[in-house]
Amino acid sequence: MKDIPNLFGSMVFHDAVMQARLPKDIYKALKKTIADGKRLQLDVANVVANAMKDWALEKGATHFTHWFQPMTGITAEKHDSFISPIGNGKIIMEFSGSELVRGEPDASSFPSGGLRATFEARGYTAWDPTSYAFIKDGTLCIPTAFCSYSGEALDKKTPLLRSMEAIDRQALRILRLFGNDKAKSVSTTVGPEQEYFLIDKEVFLKRPDLVYCGRTLFGARPSKGQEMEDHYFGAIKSRVSAFMKNLEEELWKLGILAKTKHNEVAPAQHELAPVFSTTNIAVDHNQLTMEVMKRVANEHGLACLLHEKPFAGINGSGKHNNWSMTTDTGANLLEPGETPSENAQFLLFLVAVIKAVDDYQDLLRVSIANAGNDHRLGANEAPPAIVSIFLGDELTEILSAIDDNREYQGKEKIQMEIGASVLPHFPKDTTDRNRTSPFAFTGNKFEFRMVGSTFSISGPNFTLNTVVAEVLSQFADQLEKSKNFVSDLSALIKKTIKDHKRIIFNGNGYDNAWVEEAERRGLLNLKTTPDALPAFIAKKNIAVFEKHHVLSPNEVESRYEIFLDNYSKTINIEAMTMIDMVNKEIFPSVISYQNELAVLIKRKKDLGEEFLTSPEEGLLVKISKLMVCLEKRLTELSEQTVQVKGISDSLELAKAYREKVFMAMNELRLTVDELEMLVSKKHWTIPSYGEILYSVN
Ligand code: ADP
Ligand code: MG
Repeated sequence: MKDIPNLFGSMVFHDAVMQARLPKDIYKALKKTIADGKRLQLDVANVVANAMKDWALEKGATHFTHWFQPMTGITAEKHDSFISPIGNGKIIMEFSGSELVRGEPDASSFPSGGLRATFEARGYTAWDPTSYAFIKDGTLCIPTAFCSYSGEALDKKTPLLRSMEAIDRQALRILRLFGNDKAKSVSTTVGPEQEYFLIDKEVFLKRPDLVYCGRTLFGARPSKGQEMEDHYFGAIKSRVSAFMKNLEEELWKLGILAKTKHNEVAPAQHELAPVFSTTNIAVDHNQLTMEVMKRVANEHGLACLLHEKPFAGINGSGKHNNWSMTTDTGANLLEPGETPSENAQFLLFLVAVIKAVDDYQDLLRVSIANAGNDHRLGANEAPPAIVSIFLGDELTEILSAIDDNREYQGKEKIQMEIGASVLPHFPKDTTDRNRTSPFAFTGNKFEFRMVGSTFSISGPNFTLNTVVAEVLSQFADQLEKSKNFVSDLSALIKKTIKDHKRIIFNGNGYDNAWVEEAERRGLLNLKTTPDALPAFIAKKNIAVFEKHHVLSPNEVESRYEIFLDNYSKTINIEAMTMIDMVNKEIFPSVISYQNELAVLIKRKKDLGEEFLTSPEEGLLVKISKLMVCLEKRLTELSEQTVQVKGISDSLELAKAYREKVFMAMNELRLTVDELEMLVSKKHWTIPSYGEILYSVN
């Protein structure tokens, strides 16, 4: 039995390590810098860097890197060794304060959406001291933000940190109104539940589509999919279990609070959930989790698929983003309280989130838009593309009672008087009862369920933080002027419920009736990424990011370009992979089977009259017809991929990729899948769905 408490965080330069290794005054200065969000003095940084280096060397590290999160969505690192020459052919191991706080990776190849002119292409990285340094693979990693020299954010961390400041500022204003002068800060907390598939690595390597695109572009349905629902929470197979144990240990060493693991709905699908933490730590940890998952899988002869939809017809993967707000004194602001005043405060924060989600449905949809997630949303397995909120019957009834000025008809009958009566205790909805809801209140937090499994959770969270900060600022503006707080508060809560109740929906999100109902309510239904992305640059959305200093208009515009570009490139790579696979795998497979049939038919004909109309002939005719169709559809796809190249406008290009290229891909796939059903296994070179999904035992 391993000593888990000692293992936990053993590769992290965390608070206890700092306290033990830094001189008292330096430790204090560092803590103060972290608390105030200020820049570290160089003399302090020098001492911290040296202590970090000594600690890292003891752990066997030889290099250091500024670990950052460029717009590619994955993390980046450029390793420098600690070595420093001292003449006479010798070296010492060195790490300076300036190397700790600031780096200049030659990172001109990362997407910047036009933010960087080439003369200032380098950008720089700056230490985020709120996230601890850690050792990964013999390298000391310093979590950093990545900016251009003119201060524009080139990464996913910078806007997140800014959004946390915004919500801190606005939530504190509200708390002060309720007489809370103890809380010094409010931060958002996040617990992301990560879904993934595990398949055998050898099978994986035989599928170029999985290797290049992360998803299968072909594949007839297996005889057994997920219809028996026997995988969900089922016993974990020994190979998977060995992987999970190893994964947990690796995550624990990095101080990641991996907590829950289980099988998911689809065969070969699993989930890992951590204990929640402060948002920027949760983001860093989720990025690391995805990376470690892939590495550990590889070491176990497995491949970890993080794509939102690796297999058609089988549930895809998401990432439930559990989100709440907490004070530094430990109060969860989305937790119903014990006293009338606490309850009024809870209701105000609750309706603030409701209003924010309603006012900025489009932005939330944008924050989770990519080509992969388009396969899930609205496909009756994940939430629909329509943003709505699940509150549960009881809380909805409480809000209705407030709205209608009547008694609440729950177990205890109460006149809901805000600031005067205590809320009834309603049971927490910790079940997954309504998995169809995009945004569900689950007792003391909201669960944003539209996030895709490959996403950095930074985008969804800085968006959520910003829009909630905006509504809190509107509320604070009104209430700070109030002469009669209790009655104005009550009126504000009532009005907010009345104005925004359309976003509340507790029913089945998969039901077609909901699509119509949502339209009647005026809710948006942005089905695809090209449909959703233009909302990012809508005036009101640029304004909200600018007002709260999360993204400048320039930064929004550049991100918009990056997202569009990323969408078009993704579809293009998929189309190219498809064309290649048809030419190199599918055609040869079918041709060799046809040949086998033709030889047999010929031989039978030679045998005599009675063999003339053989079933083989029927089969060959069928396959030949499909081959004609395949040829036609392949040509069509190839032509479409050439035609779109003529489009220069990035939105028009993304739309064309969706409407032309993607549609041609779907057509081509149908024919290939039909052929797969007919061609003998011996000739079909790529592994089938059945072989992939049941490859791990
Ligand atoms: P379950 O869904 O398994 O019943 P929970 O709903 O408690 O369990 O937890 C699901 C995820 O939500 C976990 O990652 C958990 O850490 C996270 N979570 C719980 N409370 C909060 C909170 N206040 N803020 C953010 N995330 C939370
Ligand atoms: Mg959940």
